[in-house]
Amino acid sequence: MKVTEHLSKAKKTLISFEILPPLKGQGIQSIYDAIDPLMEFEPPFVDVTYHREEYVYKKHPNGLLEKKTTRKRPGTVGICAAIMNRYEVDAVPHIICGGFSKEETENALIDLHFLGIDNVLLLRGDQIKSESVFVAEPNGHAYASELIDQVVAMNKGRYIDDELGNVAASDFCIGVAGYPEKHFEAPNFKNDLIWLKKKVDLGAEYIVTQMFFDNKKYFDFVKACRNIGIHVPIIPGLKPLTTKGQLTVLPKIFHIDIPEDLADAVDACKDNNAVKEVAIEWGIQQAKELIAGGAPCLHYYTMGKPDVTKAIISKVL
Ligand code: FAD
Repeated sequence: MKVTEHLSKAKKTLISFEILPPLKGQGIQSIYDAIDPLMEFEPPFVDVTYHREEYVYKKHPNGLLEKKTTRKRPGTVGICAAIMNRYEVDAVPHIICGGFSKEETENALIDLHFLGIDNVLLLRGDQIKSESVFVAEPNGHAYASELIDQVVAMNKGRYIDDELGNVAASDFCIGVAGYPEKHFEAPNFKNDLIWLKKKVDLGAEYIVTQMFFDNKKYFDFVKACRNIGIHVPIIPGLKPLTTKGQLTVLPKIFHIDIPEDLADAVDACKDNNAVKEVAIEWGIQQAKELIAGGAPCLHYYTMGKPDVTKAIISKVL
């Protein structure tokens, strides 16, 4: 079933999760260990992130460095199929522009279609870690909006090779990312919203937000979206803190702000167990306010650590 159908049928705020594929070489059990404790909350769908290739340098005995390309967390499509099979929930693979030509994307979409996966979250992806700006592949997409065009075309039965006859149209429900605190490359909030509206006008049916810790940012974002003419559901993305180090790491990686009250409380913690207690209290208040404010679904970035998320949700449902 499509994410939008789950949202429209729901009589209360839904709970969903995002998981990361394990590092290459690990088995599927680590995925089940991250999901099993959360299944009691009956998530209608689980997102699985996609991770682009990275450059690694292998040192040879003669001292020379060899540059190699590797994908450290492969397996998104296989994990989606495994989740659907084991839990009978919908899986939402993330599809990114970075590192893919249009034809490779089309082949991935064909795999998803064959597997009966009818939801996708379409993203541009970030630049390769060691590079400073995002560079599209030759014959790839530069923005998520171009990826939306491709999926919408396939939903209408139009493949890259327009001479194909008797084609099977796909029927993907399309989600995209939104940024309550602005995407870091956008010159300003309004400009970012204009591009977000373009994604919706092209066919995105719902938005999942970047993590935020101050609900005002989400409510203001929803209001600004409605004012500019974006009327699709906007799902808040939530990341419970689990370590003190995240106070500096999360703003650096995700370009988000951690409110003073929360940062001070975490700073005062003796160890990460105390951080988790603070995060649970904060998360409970955040979730209750979002539910009261009409959020359609609370989407948790569990990052393979379900315990804090579980402690929060069990207090708010
Ligand atoms: P876009 O919508 O393409 O926007 C990128 C930037 O360009 C923005 O600043 C926007 O304002 C601007 N822009 C958009 N269109 C145009 C245009 N036509 N012309 C000029 N400017 C334009 N990354 C991963 O690698 N894997 C994942 O699985 C993943 N999952 C994510 C899930 C969520 C919910 C979120 C919020 C982010 C996720 N990301 C993931 C990170 C994401 O890929 C990055 O934030 C990336 O930098 C932007 O992706 P986007 O789809 O928002 O880009």
